[in-house]
Amino acid sequence: MLLTRLIYVSDLNADVSFEAEQMLSSARKLNKSNFVTGALWFTGAQFIQVLEGGRHAVSETYHRIAKDTRHQNIELVSCNTVDERIFQDWSMGFFGDTETNRAQVLKFSVTDSLQPERMTADSLLAALRSLELSE
Ligand code: FAD
Repeated sequence: MLLTRLIYVSDLNADVSFEAEQMLSSARKLNKSNFVTGALWFTGAQFIQVLEGGRHAVSETYHRIAKDTRHQNIELVSCNTVDERIFQDWSMGFFGDTETNRAQVLKFSVTDSLQPERMTADSLLAALRSLELSE
């Protein structure tokens, strides 16, 4: 089975309550049992998530996530086979909406608000790698 990395972006659905801790705790258990690793950046309004693992596991996880009503306008940014994982230590590293992380946005974006639709997959990955883990 080929190692695969998938990146997507989505918007928070403000009509449904979203508790990061609760979602992460069940997502991490599922990811661990499926050998899926990755990182999730929540800017307060948008999600940028990287999923890494076997192609079947990543695909199945993405389809489950895409059905989740806690977010909307889900757009696939990229999905490629890769030689190695970047986030191998995290069943799902979480980057929150902190001052430090907000300050990083300008480095990768044309304004000080994040516009994932104007960023390449490489730039989104670089942005995620530059952030400070929230937990
Ligand atoms: P169930 O737990 O049976 O839930 C079915 C549906 O109910 C969900 O799709 C959702 O729409 C809704 N729901 C469930 N819990 C809540 C809640 N507390 N509040 C409101 N609605 C709820 N899962 C992973 O396995 N790995 C991940 O990396 C991952 N990342 C995620 C990132 C984001 C931004 C979001 C929003 C969710 C993520 N999830 C992740 C959770 C995923 O969407 C599924 O809820 C989870 O995988 C369980 O799948 P299930 O089919 O058993 O859903």
